[in-house]
Amino acid sequence: MNDKHELIYEGKAKKVFSHNDADKVVIEFKDDATAFNALKKAKFEGKGKLNCLISARIFEILTKNSIPTHFLELKNEYTMIAKKIKIIPLEIVLRNTAYGSLCKQTSIKSGTVLAKPLIDIYFKDDELNDPLITKDRIALMNIISSKDLELIIDLTIKINEILKKFFKNIKLQLVDFKLEFGYDFQNNILLGDEISPDNCRLWDLNQKSDTIVSLDKDRFRNDLGGLIEAYSEINQRINNFI
Ligand code: UDP
Repeated sequence: MNDKHELIYEGKAKKVFSHNDADKVVIEFKDDATAFNALKKAKFEGKGKLNCLISARIFEILTKNSIPTHFLELKNEYTMIAKKIKIIPLEIVLRNTAYGSLCKQTSIKSGTVLAKPLIDIYFKDDELNDPLITKDRIALMNIISSKDLELIIDLTIKINEILKKFFKNIKLQLVDFKLEFGYDFQNNILLGDEISPDNCRLWDLNQKSDTIVSLDKDRFRNDLGGLIEAYSEINQRINNFI
């Protein structure tokens, strides 16, 4: 029986198909890369597979640590089966180290290790260019209840604690990352989307000097080259550790 049906959504990096079970979806990871709200585009052969495998491993680690996620199983190296969720249009960014937009918008210097994790929430809306949003604006727009927002923030802080420790063990500094959550059919909040070098900043701790070596999408954003090599290195370190 074929469990891949019609395309229900195509995003910048993934395609989502319906499943025979109405409460499941089939997610196919694409080789496309975009940055700066899709102003910059490229294709990297093998990126979809690497992100799918890395995300699957990370979802498994989170599940073992009692974090509810949409991940169910891998179908093949670039496709996963997940629970169907209704995505909440918020991007929850957690920062351990200052970098990227935080340093463009504030006077905080790049590379500053933050005394405590900073959570920045963005409204997921391409037309508005995903603006930074406040709790009061989220309430004003009725996006989610303040109780659910608190739950999502608590989950993000827990996820950071788990992942920061995990990545440190494989000699990677978890600088920042972006999460998306959604509601399943029973109205439970689950972690959705992906967790990969496309939406995490990971710096190599195996460096003798202080120079930053990014093993993430900054290789594409900043034209550093070696994106596939960097993602493969992360996948290898994860597999060697587990
Ligand atoms: N991020 C993401 N999608 C976005 C914007 C950011 O996955 O649309 C991730 C990004 O990879 C980084 C973190 O969120 O790990 C913080 O990104 P930042 O706000 O610094 O934005 P950027 O510098 O990438 O524009």
